[in-house]
Amino acid sequence: MSEWHHKPKHAPADYHLMAPCEDYRGKGGDPIPFPEYTGSGIPLKDHPMMPFDESTLWNVNSRCAACGSGNTLCIYYHLVSGLGTGKDMTIELVCKDCGKYTVDYYVD
Ligand SMILES: [Zn+2]
Repeated sequence: MSEWHHKPKHAPADYHLMAPCEDYRGKGGDPIPFPEYTGSGIPLKDHPMMPFDESTLWNVNSRCAACGSGNTLCIYYHLVSGLGTGKDMTIELVCKDCGKYTVDYYVD
């Protein structure tokens, strides 16, 4: 499922002041510190969680949902998984062409 926004939905409002990709594990308020990264953005293919184990499970998208450009940076990544609960991955991208924010949800 893909959606786009004018403002970041998952990355902090000051994400652009951060390093390109910071380990945010446990800082986003999760009671259980699942893998979580945020920052001013890196190409999805260069993300420390790449290649995603989940890439065999999901067709991970790096395109802007607003304009279709592939010229995006990943500014937020979150993976939640547990025994018997499946996996749930959230990725937020910022588009370098139109400036919109794309959120993709992947659910097992
Ligand atoms: Zn765009």
